[in-house]
Amino acid sequence: MWHRQAKHCPICGAALVEATIEARARQRCSACAFVLYLNPACAAAGVVVNPRGEVLLVKRAIDPWKGYWALPAGYQEIDEGPELAIAREVAEEAGIEARVLGLLDLFFIESDPRKPANVAVYLCGAEAVEPRPLSDDVSDAAWFALHALPEKIGFDNYRRILSRLADRSGYPPSTWSHLDELLGRDR
Ligand SMILES: [Zn+2]
Repeated sequence: MWHRQAKHCPICGAALVEATIEARARQRCSACAFVLYLNPACAAAGVVVNPRGEVLLVKRAIDPWKGYWALPAGYQEIDEGPELAIAREVAEEAGIEARVLGLLDLFFIESDPRKPANVAVYLCGAEAVEPRPLSDDVSDAAWFALHALPEKIGFDNYRRILSRLADRSGYPPSTWSHLDELLGRDR
């Protein structure tokens, strides 16, 4: 279980004990003042679109969702904001240089088996260059037209995000004006 893994204090190494702190059952150190506050992880996902209007997906080589296609995504490092994180992940997972255009959505994903997370979903633009996966986390990366998406799409990405691309009403208008500029068309 993700929420009861620690046995020892990361500061002094003494045993952690159960305690009620700020009205919740938590773990605190039996020797020093350390309290183990559990928070969701912070992650970013990218809807990367090229000038042909295709979206970038990566095929996962690891669980969860091994063998499924998904939007490029990953956890933030401690010293990077979500925009930097998604640009880095797209570079690592697909060898693509992405330009962040705007925030599409923010999800709280409680059901992730690793840890609940806040996932910031960014609309990004990129040139239509051939993807080249550089990370061991993915086995393939490819551009897909929205009407020809693969069947096996993980993380509920289709329902939550991709199905809404055709109907822009669910996303902030400011992001789409950037995209239209990228695609060279007027709305
Ligand atoms: Zn301690």
